[in-house]
Amino acid sequence: MSMHLASAQCRRCGKELTSRPFEPKTDGSAPTAKKFEQCLRQCLDCGQALSNSARAPRWIFRDYRNNVPEQVRDGLEEAVGKAVKSAKSKPGQLASESSEDALTWTVIRHLELQGSLALLCYLVGRVDAVES
Ligand SMILES: [Zn+2]
Repeated sequence: MSMHLASAQCRRCGKELTSRPFEPKTDGSAPTAKKFEQCLRQCLDCGQALSNSARAPRWIFRDYRNNVPEQVRDGLEEAVGKAVKSAKSKPGQLASESSEDALTWTVIRHLELQGSLALLCYLVGRVDAVES
């Protein structure tokens, strides 16, 4: 028997997001959603969706680039391309609001644009990087 998740409200436009039907897993829960396309509640207009977790749903972007502020987006695609080649990260992981990689990128890139990377190096103990 197919089930539905409770409706949610798009955090951007406020539209009601009704759940697509799903066949529950053996424990009764909805299938896990790690990317936008797998989420049962999507806002197609905004390109954001709510994951299928009953306890702690999180927002996932259709386009991972939208998960970092526009001011620091430059260079992200290239960095992701390199990370994918070395199998350290996948673009889909960057799309989640709980992505540590997206947060790290935002902070580091912001500091770089502010000319403050040397300060960061100093703070994390890489004084040699500051002096060179
Ligand atoms: Zn929306």
